[in-house]
Amino acid sequence: MRYFRANINTMVGYTPGEQPPLGVKIVKLNTNENPYPPSPASLQVLQKIDGEQLRRYPDPMATEFREAVGNVFGFPPDWILVGNGSDEILNSIVRACVEQTQKVVYPTPTYILYRTLAQMQPAQFVEVDYDKDYNLPIEQLIAANGAVTLIASPNSPSGHAIPTTLLSQLASQLSGVLVIDEAYVDFAEADALEIVKTHDNVIVLRTLSKGYSLAGLRLGFCFANPSLLEGLVKVKDSYNIDAIACSVGTAAILDQSHKVNNAERVKSSRAKLTTDLKQLGFHVYPSQANFLLVQPPKSNAEEIYQLLKKQGILVRYFKQVHLDNKLRITVGTEEQNQILIEVLTQILT
Ligand SMILES: *Cc1c(COP(=O)(O)O)cnc(C)c1O
Repeated sequence: MRYFRANINTMVGYTPGEQPPLGVKIVKLNTNENPYPPSPASLQVLQKIDGEQLRRYPDPMATEFREAVGNVFGFPPDWILVGNGSDEILNSIVRACVEQTQKVVYPTPTYILYRTLAQMQPAQFVEVDYDKDYNLPIEQLIAANGAVTLIASPNSPSGHAIPTTLLSQLASQLSGVLVIDEAYVDFAEADALEIVKTHDNVIVLRTLSKGYSLAGLRLGFCFANPSLLEGLVKVKDSYNIDAIACSVGTAAILDQSHKVNNAERVKSSRAKLTTDLKQLGFHVYPSQANFLLVQPPKSNAEEIYQLLKKQGILVRYFKQVHLDNKLRITVGTEEQNQILIEVLTQILT
């Protein structure tokens, strides 16, 4: 279409995982949502939202939520920025920090949105392959010299986490910004939040979409040195956090025990699902997230994806290099995982 800029015409655009309408009976294990409900305290706040709260514009900086995050994680509020999902913060980072002649750098396979954001800018992008054991290609990442380097840890779709010492080393050696995307950190053994305090080029991203069971609310946040957040504030939508998200999200972030308990359930189901899938002959990559990357015993991942779908089970299949023989399966409830294993058993025998 001639009305678009050239880079918009040529780019593919991000394709989110399938979202069947609510009420359709399906075992939905394709987009890494938390299988358990959000904090009851946050749902109570939702019940009490009134017209007056919606009549007014919301707080541009979501101060109530920002202060709650600061209290929970031990940071002053000016070290925190809130986004309409962490996707919006990623968008703001690329828009604020990368010139057209500069590069966005990330190891692959990873979150496909990183490439989409570079193409929208448009900026150059450099994709550095992980090796087969998902070791961080740190030398190549440094050599690529990105204005922004993006690392998801735990990573999607592999589920592996990067040791904090390596991330800290990377932060010291990069001349640009290092973004550590911790969307799945609530299911992991460690986090990299401390690095923010000692490196003024590091942004740590968090979200309420996975650990807090609030993907529909669209609320993410990040930690960084206040001087680095200044530029992001200039490019974000002025009223990016709606009044409902701010109130409901505040209650959810303050209810850490609800999140922790659900994460414990997911982690124990993850261990059981790993054992069951291995018993069926799958290769299962070690995961610190709420999903498993698996390789079927016979090289027929796409066929299995289709057969599962026919039986009402949605998992994620990526038709791309390194992933076209693998499936990414979100850890569901015990009951959902059981159904998956039963149907997979039928398919494979
Ligand atoms: C799910 C996910 C996000 C979170 O996006 P939101 O916009 O906060 O829902 C960010 N990064 C990665 C790698 C993810 O998988």
